Amino acid sequence: MTEKSDSSYDYLIVGQGIAGTSLAWHLHNAGKKVLLVNDSSLPSSSKVAAGIFNPLTGKKLVKTWLADDIFPYAQKFYSGLQEKLGAKILHQASIFRPFRSIEEQNSYLSRTSDPGIASYIKDTKHEIIPEHVHTPYGGMEVIQSGWIDLPVLLEGSKVYFLNNNQYLESAFSANDLIFTEEHVIWKNITFDKVILCQGYFAKDNTNFSWLPFTPVKGQILEVEMEKLSVDQIVNQGIFILPVSGTTCRVGATYSWENLNWEVTENARIELEEKLQPLLKVPYEITGQLAGIRPSSHDRRPMLGIHPDQPRLGIFNGLGTKGVTLAPFFAKEFTEYLVHDKELSEAVNIKRYFSLYFR
Ligand SMILES: Cc1cc2nc3c(=O)[nH]c(=O)nc-3n(C[C@H](O)[C@H](O)[C@H](O)COP(=O)(O)OP(=O)(O)OC[C@H]3O[C@@H](n4cnc5c(N)ncnc54)[C@H](O)[C@@H]3O)c2cc1C
Repeated sequence: MTEKSDSSYDYLIVGQGIAGTSLAWHLHNAGKKVLLVNDSSLPSSSKVAAGIFNPLTGKKLVKTWLADDIFPYAQKFYSGLQEKLGAKILHQASIFRPFRSIEEQNSYLSRTSDPGIASYIKDTKHEIIPEHVHTPYGGMEVIQSGWIDLPVLLEGSKVYFLNNNQYLESAFSANDLIFTEEHVIWKNITFDKVILCQGYFAKDNTNFSWLPFTPVKGQILEVEMEKLSVDQIVNQGIFILPVSGTTCRVGATYSWENLNWEVTENARIELEEKLQPLLKVPYEITGQLAGIRPSSHDRRPMLGIHPDQPRLGIFNGLGTKGVTLAPFFAKEFTEYLVHDKELSEAVNIKRYFSLYFR
């Protein structure tokens, strides 16, 4: 790491969700001195997320954007972090998709002839049929999937950076930043650059309020039920994610209105209406969580440097897939910051500069 005094760092990273945490680790591993600042009294999408990574999504079984690159990288990153922190973070689990009808069975099975899809589907001879859900038409098992225990990852990372004097529990306001030719100063500490990783709250930051944030509220239930298998997630319109023993999470809802962090009765009903016909076993709801996904207009991450302020950057727009997008694009952002390697056009905020200059 570059030798710096306690009042001098390379990067100030604002926000310790999965975006800020992934970026902090990548910059730290590249030998840079980072300071993470986070206000834990604010709600966070990462603390609510189920943490699932699923290479084939939707009714049409579409391969997730850049899955062949992003998924192996995310798994490598999380397993390395798991070893470093000595805590279980990466849970490999297949995703069983019960067919709704014979038609769906035929159309899904025909999709498996696509070699790009086939590598993500388990051979039917080895499929395991879940015991807790109805599967009258059978189903298919997606592999190279699983979930990340985000609360464990976030807490372990926080403790690591705290022990290195690289984590500060504090509210942040961009109004307190002082930009000079050589540095940016915040609370008498100097930095080379400040990178905002504030999730939903980035929209309140006047420096970047011109970006097309399109936040999506989501809710999940915490549920108890019998006959869960810990290494298998079920997905049919909703997911049933076994966490441990008889505990699972069920979600999620998507709402572009009433963007607040409150749980609602309507969301519970919506999830139960999908859960009940799927289940063979009784269940009990023990909790409910709500969060706001920091999505973008074109559903791609938004990262890069401010058009008029070279010492200010942003890492946002992780939307519904923060778990897989964060490590890959934290790596890309780090290569840009440290080695000046160009960012991909699809994620660079340059694609929206016309909104800033209009
Ligand atoms: C119900 C639900 C289910 C989801 N399930 C999945 C899933 O299964 N798989 C998946 O990949 N994704 C899932 N997501 C999406 C995932 O949560 C997001 O993509 C991801 O967490 C976004 O991370 P982030 O770091 O950008 O934002 P956040 O996690 O919201 O982090 C932002 C951080 O910035 C801090 N902060 C903000 N402003 C300030 C300030 N002014 N001062 C100090 N600190 C500040 C906050 O305290 C917070 O810690 C889900 C989301 C929801 C809501």
